[in-house]
Amino acid sequence: MSSYNPYENAQAQFDRVAKIIGLDEASCQLLRQPMREYHFTIPVHMDDGTTKVFNGYRVQHNDARGPAKGGIRFHPHETADTVKALAMWMTWKCSVVDIPLGGGKGGIVCDPRNMTENEQERLCRGWVRQIAKDVGPLIDVPAPDVMTNSKHMLWMLDEFETIHGGRYPGFITGKPVGMGGSLGRTEATGYGVIYTVREALKDLGIDIKNTTASIQGFGNVAQYATRLFENLGGKVVAVSCWDNVDHKAYTFLKKDGLNGEALQAIADPFGGLNKDKARDLGCQILPGDAWLEQEVDVLIPAALENQINMDNVKKISPAVKIIAEGANGPINTEADEIIRASGIFLIPDFLANAGGVTCSYFEQVQSNLNFFWEKDEVLDKLDIKMTSAYRAVKDIAERKSLYMRDAAYVIAINRVAQAVKMRGWV
Ligand code: GLU
Repeated sequence: MSSYNPYENAQAQFDRVAKIIGLDEASCQLLRQPMREYHFTIPVHMDDGTTKVFNGYRVQHNDARGPAKGGIRFHPHETADTVKALAMWMTWKCSVVDIPLGGGKGGIVCDPRNMTENEQERLCRGWVRQIAKDVGPLIDVPAPDVMTNSKHMLWMLDEFETIHGGRYPGFITGKPVGMGGSLGRTEATGYGVIYTVREALKDLGIDIKNTTASIQGFGNVAQYATRLFENLGGKVVAVSCWDNVDHKAYTFLKKDGLNGEALQAIADPFGGLNKDKARDLGCQILPGDAWLEQEVDVLIPAALENQINMDNVKKISPAVKIIAEGANGPINTEADEIIRASGIFLIPDFLANAGGVTCSYFEQVQSNLNFFWEKDEVLDKLDIKMTSAYRAVKDIAERKSLYMRDAAYVIAINRVAQAVKMRGWV
């Protein structure tokens, strides 16, 4: 696989658009790197009596528009540069949907699939203990991300509240419903991706009922993207994820359409499936990369960064009309050039997957009011936010003949640059 650094990718994307909009040198320097970053160790007592030391990160890229905001990832290959890139993308994400939050991200180098619940709880609490003074409702607000969920969020909240001696529901989002969480938060990222796909299909004059999709991943984002795409009448023919017995990636294909609900029922909490159970549901099992080669209308990479690169970009079928980036940074810089030139309509990551953080913002609003909305109300508001952000980006893309990724950056960077100037930072 080609060497890839997501931070360099994020900076290259930024530099390109900073030039297009003629951003001044000081703003460029401020916005092309994080304002603050924390690296720390987390000792955890394991169930077998040993102590293991994990590495943790939190990066605050920019908080000019509001407290830093962004998830915490658990991943065995997490790196400081990945977290920096993801923090930067969070700034643009919150800005493009116009919510009053900045960008941050956290991570722990670990594999929760090989840890007991008790070990995971101690790891969550250990992460909070190391960073508790530098995060908080008015500073930096974490959330779930790759391989973290509402259970982890509640342990983290409990540790934060124990340290600070009070109740601070605004410290973290993605909490369980009934414990300060919002209805619809679990669905929000995947649904948000499909709201933008629905709009793009309208723009291309295609009825969603006549379309097929292939999705990489079967974690939270991919699961709910599958569900809504199916509910709107489209067919998801393939998902690709790891098998939870041999931990290798496979594509689960069913040409006449998968059943998202049935697949979800056999998925594990980290987005893995089991080949035998999937076969029972009528799936063909193909190599992990096969999802990308399917003759479908819509491709949704909703797993990790750098999944579409020079090794496989040419395998994308000419039938593909839309790529919606459910993951953050799934397409590397060189492959992006090829997609840009191909005329495939791209819905860039920080727009397509902004539904999660938008719903996190709704969770904050509800927590502050101590009044919780019905699920339909949350999802209606989410649809309005996502659709209007998509429309604004599409409008600029059309008026200035820009690639959708660049158009989204123009809006996002301009808003943050203006906030930085109004505060008198540059
Ligand atoms: N982790 C999600 C993302 O990458 C959500 C972040 C949040 O809700 O703060 O957008």
